[in-house]
Amino acid sequence: MTELKCSATTCSNNCSHLCALTAIHVDGSTACKPCETCCGSFTPAMTSTTNAVGHTDVRPETRIKCHARECVYNKDMMCAADSVQISGAGADRSGDTECATFRSR
Ligand code: SF4
Repeated sequence: MTELKCSATTCSNNCSHLCALTAIHVDGSTACKPCETCCGSFTPAMTSTTNAVGHTDVRPETRIKCHARECVYNKDMMCAADSVQISGAGADRSGDTECATFRSR
């Protein structure tokens, strides 16, 4: 499974740069470069300091359903990369994030 790191610390699921969700989806069905993708699972935190409260044992292994079919790591709409970095420091919405690991075919 893919090891996910995420810098979108304004997401309610972000826990010390890991994602508290066991599965996410990445959008970008017509993406040709990283900035045309985004994390569709991004959920704005209510405050900047309370994200992922209550989540314990957050692990990097994450299933990633991905619509970015032009990415070399996309296999049948699932991500097959060993590790993925989602970028989005200071993000207010999903569109402010991106899959920095995207690589065009
Ligand atoms: S690396 Fe490619 S296939 Fe994996 S989540 Fe990012 S855009 Fe999707």
